[in-house]
Amino acid sequence: MRKIVIAGNWKMYKTQKESSEFLQGFMPQLEKTPANREVVLCVPFTDLSVMSTSLHGSRIQLGAQNVHWEDNGAYTGEISGGMLTELGIRYVIIGHSERRQYFGETDETVNQRLKAAQRHGLIPILCVGETKQQRDKGETESIISNQLAKDLVEVDEQNLVIAYEPIWAIGTGDTCESTEANRVIGLIRSQLKVADVPIQYGGSVKSNNIDEIMAQPEIDGALVGGASLEADSFGRIVNYH
Ligand code: 13P
Repeated sequence: MRKIVIAGNWKMYKTQKESSEFLQGFMPQLEKTPANREVVLCVPFTDLSVMSTSLHGSRIQLGAQNVHWEDNGAYTGEISGGMLTELGIRYVIIGHSERRQYFGETDETVNQRLKAAQRHGLIPILCVGETKQQRDKGETESIISNQLAKDLVEVDEQNLVIAYEPIWAIGTGDTCESTEANRVIGLIRSQLKVADVPIQYGGSVKSNNIDEIMAQPEIDGALVGGASLEADSFGRIVNYH
């Protein structure tokens, strides 16, 4: 049985105060959430400490949105794996398309960050996906296959989550057809050595399309941006049918 992982990616949203307000609205909704669903919130670094205290003993796992490949050093603005694990953080998003697009993240740095995360006992959520232009040129399969080949060198697939996030579907309201997401995720799975790696879909996941997405046999969860920022909508997503 593959694990189901529903994760919110808050990106650069929510102060500590706003994160506490979110939890007040969100926690009661988890009473209805089946026990076999892993619920994760990947929040800004500044929210991690206070949230780790307020979520102690709860079923919500915390995630960061990046981690550096060295354990420490002169890397202004970066955060190490040890700094995260001391706070009880379990997951870390690596290689999100926004990091690749705006912050010069390459497959090589993604690979280094993945290995560092695992060295510290963190579970990476590796993001892969194609642009609209690449899709239109029929390059979806080759782009993703190339990302996986480079990103996963010497990475332990036993402790890994992958998110298929077509870039054209992120923040656009233009969700990938669930059957198409299922097809691409099947291709991703066929390239892995370990059969039960949870593979999520991400890109305009909302409370009104999550049922259809999760009904697809290859899809093991979702990585949710905008719709994870509001307690009621993320509550409806984690409680999908
Ligand atoms: P949206 O759900 O806002 O499209 O964002 C998806 C995403 O980038 C999650 O990592």
